[in-house]
Amino acid sequence: MLLFGKHNVTPVNTPAAGRFAPSPTGPLHFGSLVAALGSYLDARARGARWVVRIEDVDEPRTQPGAADAILATLEGCGFAWDGPVVWQSRRTGLYREALDRLKAAGLAYPCGCTRREIADSALASDGARIYPGTCRHGLAPGKTARAYRVRTEDNPIEFTDRLQGGIRQSVGREVGDFVLFRADGYFAYQLAVVVDDGEQGITDVVRGADLLDSTARQIHLQRLLGLPTPDYLHLPVAVNGAGEKLSKQTGAGAAGPESIAAALGFLGHEPPAEMRSAPAAELLAWGVAHWEVARLPKARAIRVPAAAG
Ligand code: GLU
Repeated sequence: MLLFGKHNVTPVNTPAAGRFAPSPTGPLHFGSLVAALGSYLDARARGARWVVRIEDVDEPRTQPGAADAILATLEGCGFAWDGPVVWQSRRTGLYREALDRLKAAGLAYPCGCTRREIADSALASDGARIYPGTCRHGLAPGKTARAYRVRTEDNPIEFTDRLQGGIRQSVGREVGDFVLFRADGYFAYQLAVVVDDGEQGITDVVRGADLLDSTARQIHLQRLLGLPTPDYLHLPVAVNGAGEKLSKQTGAGAAGPESIAAALGFLGHEPPAEMRSAPAAELLAWGVAHWEVARLPKARAIRVPAAAG
């Protein structure tokens, strides 16, 4: 079923577009620099648009000042993006419209379950609980709507990641009906990202492999909303010695222009020795000229020395 007709979402009419979509939960660390770099090089190497979207829809996790600091770091590293930066917190009208369409079609439904009530369900691969479908056929008497979930199906969703290869997931069985609008009053990442990628005309998503597990959910939503499915490339994620993704919580520090050469090396694009201390803009230009997916390490995670974080 197509829920977004031609008149609701108007993807920008240029052939190819990539994006970098950081969550402003802290400074841009080495791991996010790798995602920025990979998406930028992949877009620029084919002359595509490259946009930056600040994913601040999850306000409770947003750190004051982090978005501006990320943008300043990107600029300092020589990244130039097309058009104005898009802020998810200013686009809730679009997310509401998408949710309303799904609700009107009976594809999204209110859920009154608390976290405690689904605590006995099986664990999904991302550590969340597989929703057992308690509210699928209506709220039980005495329950009030806390969140909205989308109906999922058992038929597997299949796609070919440009780096990781064939991926197959039954969202119905392995995730369950997932949340689009959260009990704390915020739209969920999965809905926001799908609406934004569609509305911004993104054709190529290049991001960390930690999001590989979300992709089938996003393809499911794209299909329900009548949006095209972009091509996906999930880069290896930078992890510390304990195997944890670099983040503010794992003590990763801010990256800067001096980190570009290492980020290129992480992505299998080691610049020549004489360029290692070249200005960031020159390193980026070298990366654009030499970008090849075949050079990327085909891994979901790669350890980096503590100093890189
Ligand atoms: N905002 C997400 C993050 O910073 C990335 C989302 C995406 O690329 O789809 O982890």
